[in-house]
Amino acid sequence: MPAPRPPALAGPAATAVAGPGRRRDGGRPRPPVHLADLDVPERRSAAAELGQQPFRADQLSRHYFGRLTDDPGEMTDLPAGARAALSGALLPRLLTAERELSCDQGQTVKTLWRAFDGAYIESVLMRYPGRVTMCVSSQAGCGMACPFCATGQAGLTRNLSAAEIVTQVVAGARALARGEVAGGPGRVSNIVFMGMGEPLANYSQVIRAVRRMTDPVPGGLGISRRSVTVSTVGLVPAIGRLAAEGLPVRLAVSLHAPDDRLRDELVPVNQRWKVAEVLDAAWAYVAATGRRVSIEYALIREVNDQPWRAEALARLLSDHPAHVNLIPLNPTPGSRWTASDPGVMAEFEARLAARGVPVTVRDTRGRQIDGACGQLAAAGTAAAR
Ligand code: SAH
Repeated sequence: MPAPRPPALAGPAATAVAGPGRRRDGGRPRPPVHLADLDVPERRSAAAELGQQPFRADQLSRHYFGRLTDDPGEMTDLPAGARAALSGALLPRLLTAERELSCDQGQTVKTLWRAFDGAYIESVLMRYPGRVTMCVSSQAGCGMACPFCATGQAGLTRNLSAAEIVTQVVAGARALARGEVAGGPGRVSNIVFMGMGEPLANYSQVIRAVRRMTDPVPGGLGISRRSVTVSTVGLVPAIGRLAAEGLPVRLAVSLHAPDDRLRDELVPVNQRWKVAEVLDAAWAYVAATGRRVSIEYALIREVNDQPWRAEALARLLSDHPAHVNLIPLNPTPGSRWTASDPGVMAEFEARLAARGVPVTVRDTRGRQIDGACGQLAAAGTAAAR
C-alpha cells in the first residue's frame, strides 16, 4: 500500500526536503518523508509541527541512527504520545526486503528491496577481514545504458530519495550489530555507490544521503566520509559540483576505455563528455579534495583489453594521483561480451604497473548470486510487478 506523505510535514519545509527531485512524469507519487531525509534542524521543526518538543526529534534520531532501531516499542525514553506521533510521521517503512541471497559462507549478502510504489532495488553487503562494505543503489534502474551492465539494460525507473538510500545502509548496519551476518557482530565501515543507478544523476538526494551516513550520531550514522565512494560514468558538471561540496568522499570514474571511439560505445554518455573532459574533471576533484581518484576498468575480452589500450591508459594517468581498479567483466544476461583471459588481464595489469600506475584487480564478490558489479537488475521481479 502506498504510504502517503504525513500531513503534518506537507508544508514548505517538507517540500524543500522531500522526495528525489524533479520528475519528468510530473505526477508520480514521491516516497514518504523519513527521518533520514532530514537534517537535525529540519527534524526539530518537523517535531514542532507535530506538536512535540523539538528535542524529542534528537531522541528519535539516537534510536534510529545510534541504536539502529525503528521499533517504537524500544524507545522507552520517549513518552507514549510523542513516540507514536514521531515514529508514525517520521519513520514510515520505505523498503521491504523481498529476498535475501548470500554466498561466501554468508559474508556476502544481497538484498532485493521493494519500495512503496513497487519499484525494486538491490543492495549488497560484503564482509572482508577488518572491514564491511555496503554497496548501495541510488536509483531504481539506470538511464546510462552501458551495454555491458545489467542495470543499464532495463532503463531508469526513478530516483531514490535520500532516506531510501540511507535505509539500505541502516538495514545492513542493524543486521551486523545484531550478529546476523556471518563473522559475528560488526559495523559498516565502507559505503560504495556502485549498486543500481548513476549517483550523480540523482545528485541532491545522493549528497543528502552521504551527509546522513557520515554525520555523527544523532545527525547520522557516523561513518567516515573518507570511507564513502561515489562511482560515476563521468557526468562532468556534477563532478565539478561534488568537488565544491566540501565532502571529501572518494570519487571513482568508470572509464573502461582510454579512447573516445570505444568509450562512446561502452559508456554512451561519453558521446556528451569525452575521455579528456572526464579526466580533467577528475583531476580538478583531486585538486579540490586531496583525494586520489579511482579509475574503474572492466576488462572485456578482445574489446578493451589490448596491450595498446593498457599503454594508452597509462599515458593518460601516469602523472596523476589515480588508482586503477581492473574488474573482470561479470556476465550479464544476453550480453555477447565476456571477461578477459587471466593471462591477458595479468599483462594489462603489468603494463600499467610498469608505467608507475597503481593498479589492483578487484576481488569481485557476489557473482554466484548476481550481486557483483553490473549484475544488479532486480532480476526475477518482473512477474511480481
Ligand atoms: N553508475 C555508476 C555506479 C554503478 S556501477 C558507474 O557507472 O560508475 C559500478 C561499477 O561496476 C562501474 O564501474 C560499472 O561500470 C561497473 N560494471 C557495470 N557492469 C559491469 C559488469 N558486467 N562487469 C564488471 N563491472 C561492471
